[in-house]
Parts: sequence; C-alpha cells; structure tokens
Amino acid sequence: MRSATVHDRAIWPDQLEPRELAQLDPGLPEQLVRRPDVLIVGGGILGVATAVACRDAGAGSVLLIEASRLGAGATGGAAGLLVPEAHQGIDPRVLVELGRASLARGRELDAAAGGGVGFRELDWLSLAPQPEGFLADPPPAAEWLDAGQVARLVPGLTPAAPAVRIRHQGRVNPLRALSRLAARISQVATGCAATAVRVRGDRVLAVSTPAGVIAPGAVVFATGLPPQLDGLDLGLPAGSVKGHLIVTEPVPVTLPGMVMPLATQLEDGRLLAGGTLDTGDETGQVRANVTDRIRAELAVALPALAQVRLTHRWCCRRPCHPDLLPVIDRVPGLGNAWVTSGHYRTGILMGPATGSALAGWITSGQQPAQIEPLAIGSRFAARH
Ligand SMILES: Cc1cc2nc3c(=O)[nH]c(=O)nc-3n(C[C@H](O)[C@H](O)[C@H](O)COP(=O)(O)OP(=O)(O)OC[C@H]3O[C@@H](n4cnc5c(N)ncnc54)[C@H](O)[C@@H]3O)c2cc1C
Repeated sequence: MRSATVHDRAIWPDQLEPRELAQLDPGLPEQLVRRPDVLIVGGGILGVATAVACRDAGAGSVLLIEASRLGAGATGGAAGLLVPEAHQGIDPRVLVELGRASLARGRELDAAAGGGVGFRELDWLSLAPQPEGFLADPPPAAEWLDAGQVARLVPGLTPAAPAVRIRHQGRVNPLRALSRLAARISQVATGCAATAVRVRGDRVLAVSTPAGVIAPGAVVFATGLPPQLDGLDLGLPAGSVKGHLIVTEPVPVTLPGMVMPLATQLEDGRLLAGGTLDTGDETGQVRANVTDRIRAELAVALPALAQVRLTHRWCCRRPCHPDLLPVIDRVPGLGNAWVTSGHYRTGILMGPATGSALAGWITSGQQPAQIEPLAIGSRFAARH
C-alpha cells in the first residue's frame, strides 16, 4: 500500500455538512438556563443520547454542558459499529441484551423526524475461527457459511475461510449521530466544563462552571471516565485502553458490510480497519508502527489492495472500569444525581438504550430492571 498524504485524525468530520459540524460546537448560549430540570454533564454519545431520552420522556427542560466540543472524547474517534450479536456468548447477557435494545432504539431515533441519525444497515461477517464462547452459544440469527460461499462474497480473500454472518446490524458516523441528536436538545453549551459540585444532604444543589453556577433538578454525569469534580468523590476505579483505526481511499473491491477482523466498507467505497487494543500505551499519539501493521494485515488478506492509499489514521482511548463493563447507576448517597461511565468498546452502541434507561429512572424514580446488573453495588468493593 502507498501512503502519500495521510491525515492523523478521524475521517468523521470530513463527512459532515457545515451545519452538522457547527452543531458540534455551538459555544455558550446567550441565556444559559440556570435551573434546568435535568443537567447532563458530558457531550459524548452517552450524554447526548441521555439528553434526548430525557426530553422524549417529558423530563422537562434539559441543558447539556460539554468541556470542549461535542465528540471531543472517545465518541469522536470510535468506529461507529453497532453489532450487539457479536457479543453473544462472549460478554455478559446484560450487555448483549442492552446492545440489542439499543440497536432497536437507534433505528427508532433514525426514523424520527429531523433527518435521523445517519444510521446505516450493516451485515457482519466474522471469519473463522470464532471465539469459544460464541461457538458454544451462538445467536439465533447466525448463518454459517463455508469457505466457498465466503470466497464468492469476498473475492480475493486469502486464504478463503468459513465465516459466520449476521444480517441487520448497524453503523453510524459517530459525529453525525451526535450532531443530529444534539439538534433535538433544548440547550447545549460547549466550552463549558463542570468544575465542582455542591451537595446538601442527599441532593446536588449546584454545579459550578466557568459560565456560572447551575442549579439542576437532576444531574447526569456522562463524562466517559467517572467525573473528577470538587465536592464529588465517586471513588470508582477506572482507566482507558487506546486503540488505532485507519481509513483507505475508495477501493476497487466490494465487501459485504463488515468483514471481521479485516475491515468495514464505508459508503463511498473506503475501508475502515483496526480497532487495536494497545494496552500499556498511555500516550495520545498515533503510532505509525501500529497503523502500518493494520494496513499490512489488510493487504495480506486482500492482495488486490496492496497499492491502495491510506488517507486517515487515528487513535483514541476507551474509558473502562476494571471489569470492562459500564456503570449505569444513581450516585450512591444522592437522590438526584446519576452516572454512566466506562462504556469501553461499545459506548456508541449502548448510548440509546442507556439514555432511555436513565431517563426512565429519572422520571419514574424506579431503577429499570435491565440495568440493575450495571449498578456500582459491590462490583469494585475488593479494590477500594
Ligand atoms: C478505536 C476505538 C473504536 C471504537 N469503536 C466503537 C464501535 O465501533 N462501536 C461502539 O459502540 N463503541 C466503540 N468504541 C467505544 C466508544 O468510543 C466509547 O465507549 C464511547 O464513545 C464512550 O462515550 P462517552 O459519551 O461515555 O464518553 P466520551 O465520548 O469520552 O464523552 C465524554 C465527554 O465528557 C466531556 N467531559 C469530561 N469531563 C467533563 C466535565 N467536567 N464537564 C463537562 N464535560 C466533561 C469530555 O470532554 C467528553 O466530550 C470505540 C473506541 C475506540 C477507542
């Protein structure tokens, strides 16, 4: 593969219309709502999806504040794949079920008025060998293809291999989804970090920002990692795992959606590949040796792509807790504050269902049963 001008940044902003880009960074509203019914802290997919769900659930006025611009964190660097069935037999059932519910909710959000969220149908083809857990408990929708069938679907694949196919999964440009959803929130403020929290009894009374104090009825912290704020010590153990992605120029082959572990075809014929787990690399820099390895593996499997040019390569960090499961919970000891953090490898997928669950909890006062296993509970007790 040749690599002339390669952009060391995600491709996603390049695919957006100017108005979609502008929506990601509206700045401070002239009249910031000081007493919103719900304040959302964090403008990644979890924050934005939760804000929209609160609005749709009739939770009242919603203000979202973001320290930088929408999508500045992990969301802006994600691959945007929505493939819950790939987790069957591998991840706990709660995550698989939440993912399925979220894919369905994502489709509903796409069908809603206002131009949708840019949802695209995607068939997922995973080349052998499959993980043991998946083989032991495959999803009902799995279709088992022999090497000949796969060779017809992926011409030039070297070596030809059997695969499992699951149809009707999904994909989004994560920034387009964010921008389209943000347009449905009554007020968004970017460049507006929460810095401190004032608590009295079991209630958050006020959240401090450089733009002044906000006194919310309820607050949701959706800051990727658990929030780091004066006056709020959640003590949740967390870290992050870096990953790299690459995008090529449009290629002269047609893939049947996503071919694991090789690549996903984007709408204009480009390939998106990677999603490495770069454990131990604490930096935020793109490492050419990692992206070179991703494209070399692609060229070995699809030799016709040996001369295809790389146009984008980037990295971002997946927020995670030690058990690699997200936290979706009310803040212990507080009656009007919630947190969702550590969505690790599947936050884009989980956003819609997580947002709906939190909105339901805020409006009804009842913890939805489907997220109970993702409460803080005693998950991290041994580590405190
Ligand atoms: C290489 C890679 C590929 C991935 N691919 C996929 C995929 O295909 N599918 C999938 O489902 N997931 C994928 N993920 C995972 C996904 O990116 C994350 O799980 C998800 O983006 C987490 O979203 P979030 O909203 O919790 O966090 P973030 O996107 O990090 O958003 C948190 C936001 O909060 C803001 N913030 C923090 N502190 C404050 C504060 N005090 N005040 C105000 N704002 C604050 C930050 O600036 C940030 O914008 C991938 C991740 C990586 C790294």
